[in-house]
This record gives sequence, structure tokens and C-alpha cells, in this order.
Amino acid sequence: MTADAADADAVVVRVDRDRCIGSGMCALTAPGSLALGADGLARPVRGSVDGAGGGGDGSGGNGERLTEALAEAVDFCPVEAIALYSARHGHRLAPAE
Ligand code: SF4
Repeated sequence: MTADAADADAVVVRVDRDRCIGSGMCALTAPGSLALGADGLARPVRGSVDGAGGGGDGSGGNGERLTEALAEAVDFCPVEAIALYSARHGHRLAPAE
């Protein structure tokens, strides 16, 4: 795989903690990408958080590979609190706006 292809696959995971209800579905579905914090709300293993008390710096980190499990976690979140952005271009990939 070329470096360009790897970049094209890279996504930044963001969690809106104002929406998250702590169901834990995402951490079960994609434990390599999402985890529950000590406060019971989800946060990306890499990436950033939105919302009150998030503490994110908004930079979104360096991105990670879009896996099937990560895509499923976005779909399964009952409150659409998880969003994926292109690491390269910054636009939102999922869920659709
Ligand atoms: S699936 Fe959604 S509501 Fe449940 S813990 Fe993850 S982000 Fe929060």
C-alpha cells in the first residue's frame, strides 16, 4: 500500500459527550477505537471529544484506519454521538449530515 492510499483510509474519530448516554455499545463493537472513560462516557482511543467536560483540543489527532468495526460502532450508537472525519481533508464522512 502506498502512503497516499493509507492517508485516504485514515479517519479521525470524534465523540460528542453532550449526546453520549454511556451505553457502551461502541466500546464493545470497536474496542480498539473507542472506550468508556472513568466518567462512564465514551471517548476515542485516539482522536478528540466534543461537548462539556470533553477536554479535547479539537485537533483530532493523527487519524486511524477505518475498520469495519469502527463503521459499525458509528451505526450502532443510539444517539449518533460518534462521527468520523477524513484525517486528510477534515470533512465529515459519517454519519451523513
Ligand atoms: S454507543 Fe454512543 S451513546 Fe453508547 S457509549 Fe458509545 S458514544 Fe456513547
